[in-house]
Amino acid sequence: MKSGCTTQEVRKQRSIQLPVLKNSTTQKEDIRKSRASIWRAVALIALTLLMVAHFIQWRLMGQTVSPIEPSETMYTLQRGAINAGFIFFTLAILATLIFGRFVCGWGCHIVALQDFCAWLLKKVGLTPKPFRSRLLVYVPLLAAFYMFVWPTVYRFFVKPKHEPLIPEFTNHLVTSNFWETFPPLFVAIPFLFVCGFMTVYFLGQKGFCTYACPYGGVFGLVDKFAPGKIRVNDDCNQCGHCTATCTSNVLVHAEVKQYGMVVDPGCMKCIDCISVCPNDALYFGYGKPTVAVTKSVVKNYSLTWPEEILGAVVFFASFMAAWDVYQLVPMLMALGIATVTTFLALRTWRLFKASDLSFYRFRLKSSGSIQKAGWIFLSFALLWIGLNGHSGWVRYHESAGARAFQHIQIPDELALAGTNPNQWLSPSDRENIAAAQKHYHAAVDAGLFTNSDALPKLAWVEYLSGNTEQAVQLLGKAAEHQHGQGKALSFYYRGAILNRLHRYDEALKSLDQALAERPDLILAREERGESLWQLGRKQEAVAVWSDAVKRNQGLPLANNLLAGAAALLGQTEAALAYEKQADQFTPPDPFFHWMVGLRLRNVGMNELAEKHFQRAIQLNPQFRARRNL
Ligand code: SF4
Ligand code: SF4
Ligand code: SF4
Repeated sequence: MKSGCTTQEVRKQRSIQLPVLKNSTTQKEDIRKSRASIWRAVALIALTLLMVAHFIQWRLMGQTVSPIEPSETMYTLQRGAINAGFIFFTLAILATLIFGRFVCGWGCHIVALQDFCAWLLKKVGLTPKPFRSRLLVYVPLLAAFYMFVWPTVYRFFVKPKHEPLIPEFTNHLVTSNFWETFPPLFVAIPFLFVCGFMTVYFLGQKGFCTYACPYGGVFGLVDKFAPGKIRVNDDCNQCGHCTATCTSNVLVHAEVKQYGMVVDPGCMKCIDCISVCPNDALYFGYGKPTVAVTKSVVKNYSLTWPEEILGAVVFFASFMAAWDVYQLVPMLMALGIATVTTFLALRTWRLFKASDLSFYRFRLKSSGSIQKAGWIFLSFALLWIGLNGHSGWVRYHESAGARAFQHIQIPDELALAGTNPNQWLSPSDRENIAAAQKHYHAAVDAGLFTNSDALPKLAWVEYLSGNTEQAVQLLGKAAEHQHGQGKALSFYYRGAILNRLHRYDEALKSLDQALAERPDLILAREERGESLWQLGRKQEAVAVWSDAVKRNQGLPLANNLLAGAAALLGQTEAALAYEKQADQFTPPDPFFHWMVGLRLRNVGMNELAEKHFQRAIQLNPQFRARRNL
């Protein structure tokens, strides 16, 4: 302990005006400008330019090093994909273990954005005030646990025994799909606005870092063990310039007095405090870590305990409402939204309770009367909270719909084999289809944005309910909003349903669109052959099925279709060869045989279809009853 300063004294120091003493050299009260901040700005601008260069290099060359983002570590832990983000994050943690939490201050684009926002606000005379909560500071740690520890815990306790605790590692250091794990641009821009600007305006310059960022949670924890700290010599006169300058809300003057160093894990080693200290009392040096001292400096918090509890409840509800709503909002953005909602909800609460309330230089309430600024604040807060509540309502229906959808048992191939999947539905399937239909309709009809995950699922339950036309329309709409695999699947299902409706031209177009997205989608090739066959383009159909078999020899349906086609075209030898190959790969499952029989019957290959119906009956005599359906 540096001196005998008691907790009460420290609390008193903080609760009164910060003691910004006169500079001993200049005898002026002003705090000198931090020279370090220029270097930090240069480092952060260079980092941003490097990120832009990385993106441009990928666009030009089509391949690049995988994103150098800590979030990529999740894919290493979940799937064993070793990527650049994992290597960067590991090295950053190891460096933090020695030098403390410096990566945040010198190497993060979000901190650059937050600094830029604070700079802009100061230009218009608004200095962001820190929002201090006792409970919400644990959010980054909890988020870090979920992202980086939970995947392994889950695999250990919940997943089936055959899954290894440590996944098999694969090399993902180079990628051709750089943007794959990032949100689309129309989400990324609001993401940066909420996490970079709104959190600064409402919660202070490091609002997002303090209450939302999981990487900060990890760095803050590791910092406690690091010997590298901001330390003090005997020249400190408690002028308070360091604390007044610190944008991480660290009580520098109090901590260095108490411990001889800065122990707050929020310290990002930006060295602004060292730079502005008029007595050159601060320095970066090595010694005992934070865990070696007993902390007793008490911060002045913005909330009472009841407000803390209310805030924690609001935060949790808001986070759950926003996370993944419309399958658009990533976890970090939801955390940012939740911090803003919590602040607005608590301020609104105070606006009604207190007789006087200010926000920045704006008087929200005076002598019990809400002022003009107060009404503007209230309107904005209610709009924001209302939107968040609406997201919660949509999210609830999306989750309930997804839960019901997950429990639908009927295999897609069987449901698609004929126009009437109803005969294959079990009572529990019917219940789950009705529930999924109800919830997805509620989410889609009331949603402000299109949920490209819910839409195809709603289409599928509509199809299973017999609303084929609606299913076709919904799948078309879903495909418009999807990319890659999702888009290909929506077009495929749409094409398959159109085939069953005998709308072969439309089906062909849809299946071509599916294959344009994913040429390896064999199911779409099999369906495409069916459209061509029905349109009388028999040789083209045979070519498509042959191509499918060339890509994967063990396809029972394509081989059967080729066998049926060869038989109808009078090529007996070829028909026998394909049939033999088909038999080799057809599983001894009555449902599968029935499905193949239906598909063959659809295209007029009745003889071969009959063989599969008989085989199904042989495997399960109950199928005899379905014979005439
Ligand atoms: S806490 Fe997160 S957002 Fe803040 S500087 Fe660190 S890594 Fe960046
Ligand atoms: S460390 Fe320097 S800036 Fe901070 S209180 Fe002491 S003398 Fe003032
Ligand atoms: S304590 Fe000093 S080094 Fe740490 S964040 Fe504050 S100003 Fe920067």
